[in-house]
Formats: sequence, structure tokens, C-alpha cells
Amino acid sequence: MVSEEELKNYLQAARIHTAAEEVALGVVKEGAGVLSAADAIEKEIVEAGGKTAFPVNISFDSEAAHNTPVANDQRVFAKEVVKVDIGVHVEGCIIDAGFTIDLSGENGKLVEATEQALKDALSVMRAGVKARDVGAVIEKTIRSKGFKPVENLTGHLLEPYNLHAGIEVPNVAKGGEHVFEEGEVFAVEPFASTGAGFVADGPAPAEIFSIIALKNVRMQRSREFLHEVFEERQLLPFAKRWFAGEKMIDFTLRDLARQGVLHDYPILIDESKGLVSQSESTVIIEKDSVKVLV
Ligand code: MN
Ligand code: MN
Repeated sequence: MVSEEELKNYLQAARIHTAAEEVALGVVKEGAGVLSAADAIEKEIVEAGGKTAFPVNISFDSEAAHNTPVANDQRVFAKEVVKVDIGVHVEGCIIDAGFTIDLSGENGKLVEATEQALKDALSVMRAGVKARDVGAVIEKTIRSKGFKPVENLTGHLLEPYNLHAGIEVPNVAKGGEHVFEEGEVFAVEPFASTGAGFVADGPAPAEIFSIIALKNVRMQRSREFLHEVFEERQLLPFAKRWFAGEKMIDFTLRDLARQGVLHDYPILIDESKGLVSQSESTVIIEKDSVKVLV
């Protein structure tokens, strides 16, 4: 259940998210720098009074999620299917939402499929509805447009400072035993694919990490880094590029990962390299409908 104070924070985070999306629409353009786009979006979040709930994900073509620029990233946007996934929080109250921009000019139908699936999903969500029934709606809409829903990515419960709080909203009519209750906050995120409809970890080293749990760590720098990040972000994900100024950041991250303190998030890629689109909203479950925050 969302308290009055939390509702205020969610609404503020939603306003900030909308401002960050507007920035994204201006900077995700063919020929523009990917790193400068990410910087502009994340800067807007902070300047508007929020915090990043995770590094902005800017994922391309067959990538579904978890791509974020590296430090000194030189890439520019080309004619690609670009997913922009933005996370904002105010006092831990997280808005997780994103959309797809078709810079290819040839994949509008794919983008429409997830946009329509999201609309259809939100129109049936309310207290008492089973998560699987929402997955069924998403699957039906995406298949009716000639694409595959991505089966192994799901929407998820949001709790303060907890991005994936243990309950899933499937994108197909499988699993999803949870029955929604009034006051729960959920991210709903249909993905559509022209390929396999399953994603797997890509080969590149992860650029996004989160702390699994605070633990005793022997190396002094690793211990300091762990506590600095935890104090600032708790268990919310962070990007390696944010620490580009740190000497030995690679060493520190490897040291912490080896000790089971860090989770990493490799880029998720469609198994047959199909193109992928995503549309995501954050909502609060109400008695007869949902309150769409973003
Ligand atoms: Mn997201
Ligand atoms: Mn999400």
C-alpha cells in the first residue's frame, strides 16, 4: 500500500520522468552522440530534483535492455530501433518507464505493437485481476500484429528502493499467479520481437551493476567504494561510467563481483537477433483501474 507521503514522491518522480523523456526525444537523433544523450537525460533527472533509479538504458535493434554508454563512448545514433528506458526516484519511490524510437523509419509497426500491448494491458489491470491475464492480453496484442512477445522479460512490482520486488507481470499467458491488490505499484513492460522472442546475455562486459548485499570486504578501496555506493543508492543499479574518474575502478568492480557482492547486468539480446521494441509504464493498482504515473 502506498502511503500519502509515498504517493507525493511517486507523483514528483513521475513529473521528473516526463521531463527526462522530453529531453530524450530531443537528443535521440540520427548522428547525435549516444553518451551525450545519456548525460543529458540523467542530468535532467538530477536538475529537476530527482535521482536516477538506474543508469539510462539506450539499447539498439536486437538488444532489449541493459545497454548504457561507457565512459568516452564514441557511438552515434544511426538508423536503428532505439529503446530508451529511464528510471527516476524520489526518496526511493521509483518510476521505471521507457519507449522505443524508430530511427530506422521502417519499424513503426513493431513499435506500435508494444505501445498497443501496453495500452491494452493497462486497460484490464485493477485489483483482483491475475497477472497472467495481463500477460495474455499483451501476448494476444503483440501476436495479432505479427510479432512475438519476449517471454523471458517481465513487468515487476516496485517497492521503495527495490526495482524488482519479487512479483512479475508476464508478457505471455504463462506464470503470473499473483492477484493484484489495491495500492501496489507495478512496472508493465511489453517487449515485441521480429525474432526468437527470447533474450539472452550478450558477450560484452556489463556496464551496469548493483549491490547484492553489504558484506565484509578485505580490500580497503573496495570496502570504501561499496559503502559510498550503498549510502548514495542502496541496492539500486549504477553505471561504471559514473566512476570513470576512479583509479582502478575495473579492479574494484572485479574484486567486489568475485566476492559475490555485486550483480552485473549484461546487455540482453534477442536469441535470433530479431529487432526488439519496448514500451513501459509505472502504475498504481486501484480498485477499478490503474493510476498511470508515466
Ligand atoms: Mn525499465
Ligand atoms: Mn522495468
